[in-house]
Amino acid sequence: MITLEHCMNLDLNDPLRALRDQFVIPEGLVYLDGNSLGMLPKTTSTRLQKVIEFEWGQGLIGSWNSAGWYTMPGQIAERLAPILGALPQEVMVADSTSLNLYKVLAMAMQQMRRPNSSKRVVLTEADNFPTDLYMMQSLCQQWDFEWKAVPTADLGKHLNANVAILMLSHVNYRTGHMHDMQVWNERAHNFGARTLWDLAHSAGAVPLQLNASNSDYAVGCGYKYLNGGPGAPAYVWVHSRWHSQLSQPLSGWFGHIRPFEFDGQYQPAADMRAFLCGTPPILSMVALACGIETVRSSDALGGMTAIREKSLQLSQLFMELVQQRLQPWGLECVTPLATENRGSHVSLTAPEGSYAMIQALITHGVVGDYRAGRSNEPHLLRFGFTPLTLRYIDVWEAVDRFEHVLKNDVWRDPRFSQTQAVT
Ligand SMILES: *Cc1c(COP(=O)(O)O)cnc(C)c1O
Repeated sequence: MITLEHCMNLDLNDPLRALRDQFVIPEGLVYLDGNSLGMLPKTTSTRLQKVIEFEWGQGLIGSWNSAGWYTMPGQIAERLAPILGALPQEVMVADSTSLNLYKVLAMAMQQMRRPNSSKRVVLTEADNFPTDLYMMQSLCQQWDFEWKAVPTADLGKHLNANVAILMLSHVNYRTGHMHDMQVWNERAHNFGARTLWDLAHSAGAVPLQLNASNSDYAVGCGYKYLNGGPGAPAYVWVHSRWHSQLSQPLSGWFGHIRPFEFDGQYQPAADMRAFLCGTPPILSMVALACGIETVRSSDALGGMTAIREKSLQLSQLFMELVQQRLQPWGLECVTPLATENRGSHVSLTAPEGSYAMIQALITHGVVGDYRAGRSNEPHLLRFGFTPLTLRYIDVWEAVDRFEHVLKNDVWRDPRFSQTQAVT
């Protein structure tokens, strides 16, 4: 049996425990949703205050040069690159993940397109994140590609010489299942296909090796494990072997090779700035920079390896406590137990009332989220484990309060079944 003392001991021996101090953490709250919106770093408010008052308020338009606003997307990309296992010149910070998917998938299609070739399938998983599926559908129609969205277990069966692009989420947003990037890159390349990875639920939680694993393209989110704030700018990565043909369809003036020549003819930048479109949102960029630094603060303490180790220990502890204490109510874990197959969140199923359980838990100071299942997928209760902000005793506390909610039928109160706009 796992005890509270055991959890307290794990905290005492946690090499990353001091990093929690970097965040604003509401009193008594156990926040298990950092995989959806990361917590607020303390530096973000002070840094933004300065940028607003001095750089914007006093420096005004001159700050594009004097405060380094103009080069900020590339500079943030440089700080982010090691977290992705990428070269700094291969990353750009811009727009949203959805837009970056659009840009990079369109570019991949353009690079792969051959007249009269049957090699024009985009292969993905049926339970990929909706925006990935939507962007793929729209682009396939525009560029005369076909899409195949198949169950994860059938991916191998559908990977053949007709596949041009294999587009996968590294960690599945629902189940927390993690793919072996290197293995899929190799399989795809064997068929002459290229890979596009969505790192939304990986970056900042799982060590990534975009280059060493030989990936082709990637995108990801700034507001999840990178703590960049709501709607933070996202990022896009392109392996340098494809940089000779950088071009994307959203040919805005910031992606021009010389934006301030105000040329009438679009000519893309020869580097990753080609992925910029319009004027970058500087305030959001500043917040993202602060978020990325919270992850980089682990550099001296073991970096992503230490983060991953703690992440696995937190989720393992959670799964064991769920088994130990919540099984009588039929709560079951759908996230793979094998460490090489899981990311940093854990999803549970309940025989009924998953949505109400999450709502009841939130009123008890444990924030997870609910993810509705499509067709015959189960509804999920999802809990994210962010090693920078969480203690082992928080995991204990979460399961303790969950048991209380179940034991006392708290969740059956009809008010917990009223659906909110955002789940
Ligand atoms: C969160 C998430 C996104 C979000 O895209 P936005 O454009 O930021 O809304 C995209 N893909 C995956 C896999 C995600 O988990």
